[in-house]
Amino acid sequence: MSTAERASYETLALLIDGRWKTDAREGETVFDPATERAIGWLPHADDADVSAALAAAQRAFESWRETSAFERARVLRRFGERVLETAEGIASNIVRDQGKPLEEALAEVRFAADHIFWHAEECRRIYGREIPSRDVRVHQRVVREPVGVCVAFTPWNFPFSQAVRKVCAALGAGCTLVLKGPEEAPSAVVALGRALQEAGLPNGCLNLLWGKPSVLSARLIADDIVRKVSFTGSVEVGKQLAALAGRHMKRTTMELGGHAPVLVFADADIDACARALATQKLRNAGQVCIAPTRFYVERPAYDSFVERFTEAMRITHVGAGDEPGVQMGPLCHARRVQAMQTLVDDAIAHGATLATGGTRLHERGHFFAPTVLCGDLSAARVMFEEPFGPLAAIVPFDTFDGVIEAANALPFGLASYVFTRSSAQAHHAARRLKAGMVSVNHFGLALPETPFGGLHDSGYGSEGGSETFDGYLATRFITQFDSLP
Ligand code: NAD
Repeated sequence: MSTAERASYETLALLIDGRWKTDAREGETVFDPATERAIGWLPHADDADVSAALAAAQRAFESWRETSAFERARVLRRFGERVLETAEGIASNIVRDQGKPLEEALAEVRFAADHIFWHAEECRRIYGREIPSRDVRVHQRVVREPVGVCVAFTPWNFPFSQAVRKVCAALGAGCTLVLKGPEEAPSAVVALGRALQEAGLPNGCLNLLWGKPSVLSARLIADDIVRKVSFTGSVEVGKQLAALAGRHMKRTTMELGGHAPVLVFADADIDACARALATQKLRNAGQVCIAPTRFYVERPAYDSFVERFTEAMRITHVGAGDEPGVQMGPLCHARRVQAMQTLVDDAIAHGATLATGGTRLHERGHFFAPTVLCGDLSAARVMFEEPFGPLAAIVPFDTFDGVIEAANALPFGLASYVFTRSSAQAHHAARRLKAGMVSVNHFGLALPETPFGGLHDSGYGSEGGSETFDGYLATRFITQFDSLP
């Protein structure tokens, strides 16, 4: 790694009680997924760092919990402003370590600022209530208070915005936080910590740790200081962390994987919908938990949908995220390339037709071609396992009941999409789809003011919407008897 290359990337560090720590006995190299070159070194926390971060979060909680909602909102607003002022730098480092095209990285950072401003407003509306009593001398109050120190584990696919959601919900509610971001793409979380410091967040309210995920999560979740656990990532890891949290009676929010079904009825505008779906499919190279993944197309429209969708996928310009005109970057790490190849090979071995793609691209970097599988996919793993990459599987359907049954057949329940001109059909499909979120005739999910979350194996709890603080608040009841004068 040349000095120039290293200098242009974020200085990676732990943040404990307001102090940055760049040196550590252990750590790991961070790679650029487009070139596979080393770009930085991520220090790992040792046990003393973990204890110090937890103690700092506990100390800070005692004063942050008493800070007025007005003041918390002010800090969050300044945080949002700092994010907008530094968006280009944050985004270019996301391109370096996560790989997405610069335009997408910038959109992620700016959209995250929108989340921050919304949380700044909404945290001033955390209300309790007065319950009418059975006796005029009794006053019954319900109060909602911050649960305490939280730990959060955030993923690499949207390294900035996923961390922003958890940090804003925790801090807005009056909680403090220890956060472990994604070791694959850590720069955005370091930038987030710096922006919050510059916004005036008191020391210890946010602490950043890095290390071996399973070791850190086991240590943090079991610690008595911690009252709440929030995780975004795979179903498998989510279940492990939820079990661990359950053993220690900790609250949890779990934003886990999905395998979003897309129902395309024959009366939809097939051309427009095929092009729009291809764009959505390839956003962030398909590494999105709400990405459209299982496509069910009503038989009369099947061939024309497959043809148009495949063409849009085929002509997509794939390259390094900072190359002009690039529409899709590399996958974030080598594991995803291997996962794509395994799913493609399995589908073909089980009789599927490969319409386009199916192989890795370029000599260097974790590039995989936009891929469409169609035909007989009845026994292919891709219909049951979340691909989390640029891979679409398209099958025909014949009846309304049949397609609802197929869409609901998996244990996931995160996002689902419906395309039809019939409002009655849309209404019935939206009611019967087993998913935390249904989007009809457009892609309208994940706005700051709307709740985001899944059902069943996709987890529980909402991020965004007026529900966003629920997981970070404890409900308490106070009843008071006043003897009459
Ligand atoms: P992976 O399971 O190897 O790792 C995913 C992430 O989970 C890593 O960043 C890692 O830090 C974290 N992790 C792993 N074990 C952990 C533990 N015990 N404690 C805390 N964190 C832990 O998978 P991968 O190949 O990197 O990613 C693909 C899978 O991850 C997909 O199946 C997808 O569902 C899931 N994922 C989901 C989201 C989402 O937004 N829901 C985001 C990213 C990844």
